[in-house]
Amino acid sequence: MKQENLENTIKHSLFGVVAEAAGNLNSDAFVIGGFVRDTILERPCKDVDIVTSGNGILLAEESARLLGVKKVSVFKTFGTAMFMYKEWQVEFVGARKESYSSDSRNPAVEPGSIEDDQKRRDFTINAMAISLNSNNLGSLVDPFKGVEDLTKKIIRTPLDPDITFTDDPLRMMRAIRFATQLDFDIYPETFTAIQRNAERIKIISKERITEEMNKIIMTHKPSVGFRLLDASGILELIFPQFVALKGAEYIDGKGHKDNFYHTLEVLDRIVPNTDNLWLRWSAILHDIAKPATKRFETETGWTFHGHEFKGMKMIPSIFAQMKLPLNEKLKYVQKMVQLHLRPVVLSEDLVTDSAVRRLLFDAGDGIDDLMTLCEADITSKNPDKVKRYMKNFELVRRKLKEIEEKDRMRNWQPPVTGELIMQTFGIGPGRGIGIIKTAIREAILDGIIHNEFDEAYQMMIDEGKKMGFFPVVQHVDTNLPDKNETSG
Ligand code: ATP
Ligand code: MG
Repeated sequence: MKQENLENTIKHSLFGVVAEAAGNLNSDAFVIGGFVRDTILERPCKDVDIVTSGNGILLAEESARLLGVKKVSVFKTFGTAMFMYKEWQVEFVGARKESYSSDSRNPAVEPGSIEDDQKRRDFTINAMAISLNSNNLGSLVDPFKGVEDLTKKIIRTPLDPDITFTDDPLRMMRAIRFATQLDFDIYPETFTAIQRNAERIKIISKERITEEMNKIIMTHKPSVGFRLLDASGILELIFPQFVALKGAEYIDGKGHKDNFYHTLEVLDRIVPNTDNLWLRWSAILHDIAKPATKRFETETGWTFHGHEFKGMKMIPSIFAQMKLPLNEKLKYVQKMVQLHLRPVVLSEDLVTDSAVRRLLFDAGDGIDDLMTLCEADITSKNPDKVKRYMKNFELVRRKLKEIEEKDRMRNWQPPVTGELIMQTFGIGPGRGIGIIKTAIREAILDGIIHNEFDEAYQMMIDEGKKMGFFPVVQHVDTNLPDKNETSG
């Protein structure tokens, strides 16, 4: 952490110009919040927040004029304005004072001093400001010892934490998110206040809660955040299905692993291998139906038969509850969860070509992600076992590649179309078409016929005849390009 970062920052033309603009308007201006924090921490940050004792919109317009920036977005109702300058997104707001009512996070806002504005910030490390005023340009205004907390790696509220968190309960999740992102500890009094106020998270919109949760998921070690969410009591309120994975039951001395901690381990393990939020969500949800499918059988012990299928079924309601998108992202996560045991089964058994073809067919473009998920799912404490699994997975990956090159099952398109079936037999749409297509697909997957036109065409004729259909047009040109050669 370096003090000269601050000075270099201020020398930068953007800040010099904002200082000049503030001077022109006879008002004070400060850079405040996340940008100051990240600059001191030497973390990259492209969002710049400017707070002024005067009018934020006017300062934005004057700064834009001096910088030659054409487009300023003004949000009249909030009294804020912003523009893009080079790679920076610069936001301007008048300093304010806030008072909250107990049933909503929408504050009554009134103009205030810079001190007032710093007090309404969530954490000491987010409440620091850098002066853009001619009398003390570049000096740090740090009334709550934010620098000290940065050095000690502590998340702490500037005011009584009960006030900070009742005013805006989302701050509880922000505390946990920053702790996870920055590898900081939450100050003990701050954390006990989160535990005391956890219930108030209910007044926050699902969208905002999920946004913070996604930020936690995108950190380098999301388990830290989930453990804190759990310990605070918030997780139970926002994601009870996850908490339900907790605990290991014992019958006749036989136990099963704690699926909550197992899932957290899988999530941490997948992080280095993917930045795809939805693959990380798949890791979180892969065992979500274990509590619902848990059985104890005298011979085998604990089983979770069908948890992958039941889990896939549970996901739409979880996504809806969390206001996650109900689109192809949902379908993708469902697919990952439903298929997450398949590569394991492949790696345990003798790998037959047809099993590999079926997996390629079912997973499609998701196959590589599915393998990544499966590899993360191996969390045994026994290193030999982990090694053995990883080696088997390598074999599965090789086999997948080999079969894909040969049979092209990923994104498979049927070699004969419904159209061709109808033309050939002179029939209209009906059940027969589906039956023929399924028979051809199954034969290809089982390796009975090759994935190519001529063999599929012959099978179509044979299957049609079984149902009493007879060709009315003969397909003559067997040199038609094989459909699958052109489709990727
Ligand atoms: P990040 O951009 O990584 O989310 P940030 O700290 O910059 O982190 P922003 O949401 O960009 O967070 O907010 C900028 C600043 O506004 C924060 O540093 C903080 O001072 C203040 N702030 C944001 N949200 C809140 C809040 N809920 N309560 C109080 N202050 C807040
Ligand atoms: Mg920010």
